[in-house]
Amino acid sequence: MRILLVEDDPILGNGIEVGLKQAGFAVDWAQDGRSAQLALETTAYELVVLDLGLPRVTGMDLLRQLRTRGSDVPVLVLTARDTVRDRVAGLDAGADDYLVKPFDLAELVARIRALSRRAHGRSVDAIRYRDLVLVPDSLTVTRGAETITLSGRECAILTDLLEHRGTALSRARLEESLYGWNEEVESNAVEVHIHNLRRKLGNELIKTIRGVGYLIPRDTG
Ligand code: CA
Repeated sequence: MRILLVEDDPILGNGIEVGLKQAGFAVDWAQDGRSAQLALETTAYELVVLDLGLPRVTGMDLLRQLRTRGSDVPVLVLTARDTVRDRVAGLDAGADDYLVKPFDLAELVARIRALSRRAHGRSVDAIRYRDLVLVPDSLTVTRGAETITLSGRECAILTDLLEHRGTALSRARLEESLYGWNEEVESNAVEVHIHNLRRKLGNELIKTIRGVGYLIPRDTG
């Protein structure tokens, strides 16, 4: 899952970027409102973490522009101003959730996961498919009494395919959700992760659609 982080404070921004990457997200970090606008125009993000007090274009203006354009990307607002008025204004402008600084990184990660679940219509953090139960928070898949552990990137790919079941996702599309701006993409990384997922979960689950990408079929049973 690819996240745009918009935060002008270098120390806080760096801390959040590192923390979110450790949690298995791909993160692009924009340090002012204008860079954030450009990023949003060129990249499809699954979630935006948005500071309100920003140079060049304020977080509130960015949020309004995003919603005016009809984007429904989940936005989690970070604000230092813990007043009811600011929070209400943020939610009115189209924020989905907010955190007041200073906050705990674990809480930010938990809220990001909750927003992502809501965006995909799930209320609990487990994805069921046939005899499999994927729990992204713990990087595990259970099948009956068996528990299979995944790497962060294997888990990200499997979550993506399960959330878009019935749709083939291209290698480029999967790479985009795995890597942020400053990360080198190894040329066959997606194939390697798919290979490992098949080794762990069996060859039947993920189909290769030649020339298109990878697919988990819609569950018909
Ligand atoms: Ca700020």
